[in-house]
Amino acid sequence: MNDALINTLRGITGAANVLTEGDLSAWEQDWRKRARGKALAVVRPGNTAEVAAVVKACVAAGVSLVPQGGNTGLVVGAIPDESGTQVVLSLQRMNNVRSMDAANLTMTVEAGCILQSLQEAAEKAGFLFPLSLAAEGSCTIGGNLATNAGGTQVVRYGNARELCLGVEVVTAQGEIWDGLTGLRKDNTGYDLRDLFIGSEGTLGIITAATLKLYPIPAARLTAWAAVPSMAHAVTLLGLAHQHLGAGLTGFEVMGQFALSLVDKHFPQLRVPLYKDTPFCVLLENSDHESESHAREQFERLLETALENECVLDAVVAENLTQANQLWHIRESIPLAQAEEGLNIKHDISIAVSRIPEFVEKTDRLLADAIPGVRMVNFGHLGDGNLHYNVQAPADGDSKAFLRDREEEVNTIVYDSVASFEGSISAEHGVGSLKLDKLEHHKSPVAMGMMRAIKHALDPTNAMNPNRVLRA
Ligand code: FAD
Ligand code: ZN
Repeated sequence: MNDALINTLRGITGAANVLTEGDLSAWEQDWRKRARGKALAVVRPGNTAEVAAVVKACVAAGVSLVPQGGNTGLVVGAIPDESGTQVVLSLQRMNNVRSMDAANLTMTVEAGCILQSLQEAAEKAGFLFPLSLAAEGSCTIGGNLATNAGGTQVVRYGNARELCLGVEVVTAQGEIWDGLTGLRKDNTGYDLRDLFIGSEGTLGIITAATLKLYPIPAARLTAWAAVPSMAHAVTLLGLAHQHLGAGLTGFEVMGQFALSLVDKHFPQLRVPLYKDTPFCVLLENSDHESESHAREQFERLLETALENECVLDAVVAENLTQANQLWHIRESIPLAQAEEGLNIKHDISIAVSRIPEFVEKTDRLLADAIPGVRMVNFGHLGDGNLHYNVQAPADGDSKAFLRDREEEVNTIVYDSVASFEGSISAEHGVGSLKLDKLEHHKSPVAMGMMRAIKHALDPTNAMNPNRVLRA
């Protein structure tokens, strides 16, 4: 039966694009190397018609599919399970920009396009495509949309969802839905596009998308500020909104321990101003007038913040190289914590106004439960999103910590998030890692509606089963 399916798949995509042997770890292992599955085959279709034919063949054979882009997802959603019975459908070969529409400020692209290549294509055409995250050199736009990725520019431009006007989808029945409209207004019934965005491959396969383009700002300036507490960081955010308006394109917070790990493992990056303060903030101001105007705005903001004592000290990058160095420090936090040893990761969101109270309370609960525990706390404060990670005590074994304390730590953090009416997954999604937590924390009414949608669009459970929802 499986041999017949493999032969059919070879007939659709060409034998070279159906991989069944050799080292398939690039497709079978997750990015964080926390899980490894086994695929029946990895199939790499070259166009939408081939994707549709592959889906039809798999559904007919009773075989489920796992869509995959760059395999950089962080919740174990893009790799097959361990059964050896699932087909990984990789969009890697579908990487063409189909069209640019300058007057409509849109581009239509295939799902396998690498995010960075789309930023470059937009720039070449004289535009900005603002989605930006540390995995941009290897993640794909299909994966970004399937996970509704966030990143560092959300405070101004929104999540991947806000940047997408239309999608082309191969349904769980192998039909093609051309929803590639470039319309900014369209109230003709249920929003099908938004069902597929953020569905993590569980409803259908995104094969192409029409994305929004923006004018390139005349200047982008970056500042780094030491703040005396999380509450002061929130006050600074309010001031930044007032002073910079739509110019505020990034507002990241970084705890002292997170920065000390960067300093320890990458001393060449020379982390500024962090030694005598619990938090630092990285701010970006994009200006459509001029660099000097952006600089003046920044200086006025920082003067006010220094007067209000919500900033202790600050530096404004002199040039793009310095700005990139500051962003590089922020983006090195995940790598520095990996160097330090495994830790327990959370990607949570809370209303910005309640974040200081949340951090104070949850830090205390964790310290009481596990004396000496260390918080790698950083994230997109402008969006109320923290990567609130928990590292073993300094003398502890990080592997044993993960094995023995993960469940307890997760319960403390997620219960605290719930008590602040927050979300247990702000940007990385649910995948298979957070299935049980989702069930526990989302209301039965919401879970019931989600199951109804899944059943209506994918009645045979062919699309990424046991991700987001348990089969
Ligand atoms: P994959 O990992 O291949 O897939 C992710 C999910 O989407 C899976 O469930 C998969 O089945 C599904 N999928 C993939 N392609 C399709 C498709 N075409 N159609 C339907 N379903 C599909 N995320 C953020 O939101 N913000 C960040 O700042 C951020 N930073 C990151 C930094 C690093 C270093 C890394 C490794 C990851 C980061 N992420 C971040 C996680 C983020 O989800 C991914 O990087 C990215 O959005 C996933 O794209 P991908 O192509 O790698 O998708
Ligand atoms: Zn993030």
